[in-house]
Amino acid sequence: MCSSLSFAALRRLVHLALCPIRTHSKITNIYLLTDTRRPATIFLGVFQLDYRDYQKARDASWRILLDCKIDRLPVDLNAVCRKLKIRLFSYTAAADIIERAHMADATRRTDGLTFYMRGTPVILYNGAVLPQRVSFTVAHELGHIVLAHVKPGSVTIANREPHPGDSPEETAANQFAARLLAPACVLWAMNIHTPEEIMNLCQISRAAAEFRARRMADLYRRGQFLTSPLEQAVYQQFRPFIAEALNPPPGE
Ligand SMILES: [Zn+2]
Repeated sequence: MCSSLSFAALRRLVHLALCPIRTHSKITNIYLLTDTRRPATIFLGVFQLDYRDYQKARDASWRILLDCKIDRLPVDLNAVCRKLKIRLFSYTAAADIIERAHMADATRRTDGLTFYMRGTPVILYNGAVLPQRVSFTVAHELGHIVLAHVKPGSVTIANREPHPGDSPEETAANQFAARLLAPACVLWAMNIHTPEEIMNLCQISRAAAEFRARRMADLYRRGQFLTSPLEQAVYQQFRPFIAEALNPPPGE
């Protein structure tokens, strides 16, 4: 597998990776729903994020759950990557690629990288951290792919859990990851509130769970669940899992 890859192309990507973060132009992608409603603006941390971007990340997470037929938590990210034809390797498994393409420096600076190889998206992740952290890393990189932040010829260079100084693209990737791994309608149906509950149910790190719990508190306050047909479809898909979790069979 590795010997067939184009290392010249990878070196070019590494050069890009070591450049400052570039602002990608927005492009339409298959997960962007047609929406004619008037755009609004919300504030996330210190950055202003156009509501269309927020909605795009949110809707994209629902569509991925539906398209990949994910019907239980924790979300099976290997199944998602298989379905979306995304290649997924740990830094250890991709050591040969990393060394020959001189990507070691980049891998020391981030827990996840995404690039395209001959038209196929590839995610590399640091597997030497807690599995819960790996999940969020991979979901974050998935967000960059699905939201078209990374395209053939570019590479992502930042991956960390939600942080007040994040750029709009990093914020969107984290929003996507949180919604993919911890769908609000499922947490609501199971009356999940605390970071600890979210950590246990969704198998994500404490930092990511606290991020999600803050958002859930706001949604609970406003009673804002199942307002979108997409979210209703996700809820329907998870209903057997929710019922089983709330009413486990006798003896369990
Ligand atoms: Zn990122």
